[in-house]
Amino acid sequence: MSASGTYVCLCNAVGFELTGEPALACYCHCNTCRVYGGAPARVGAYSPEQFKLTKGSANLISYESGPGKIRNSCKTCGSMIYHILPNGLAVPPLGGVKWASDGVPVVPTMHIWYGDKGLEEANDDFIKYDGFPAGFA
Ligand SMILES: [Zn+2]
Ligand SMILES: [Zn+2]
Repeated sequence: MSASGTYVCLCNAVGFELTGEPALACYCHCNTCRVYGGAPARVGAYSPEQFKLTKGSANLISYESGPGKIRNSCKTCGSMIYHILPNGLAVPPLGGVKWASDGVPVVPTMHIWYGDKGLEEANDDFIKYDGFPAGFA
């Protein structure tokens, strides 16, 4: 299966590609995602088979923002690259992904950590969890 989308950071040192539909498609409003991502929420998590770092692994700086939650950024340009969840899923910055013409749509179906949100309101009928739903890592 060809890549659904590719990403390169601002300085072109680090890149990754994504394949297929996200293993988990939701909006995460947790405080650390908000600070790390600079956005109201982060969207979409990919399995290790779907997320492939294509270059620049030696150019990453990593920070453990919570137990087993590793946030990686480019040490040259500061772009956030991805973070790894304790369950091994990778959360990339989808806003920076260049999607292939046949890329697989990302269709979130829920909100998590909604209790951490700011003043923005989600105007949809998706289920809203204050933390992780049962069974999430
Ligand atoms: Zn960079
Ligand atoms: Zn989060």
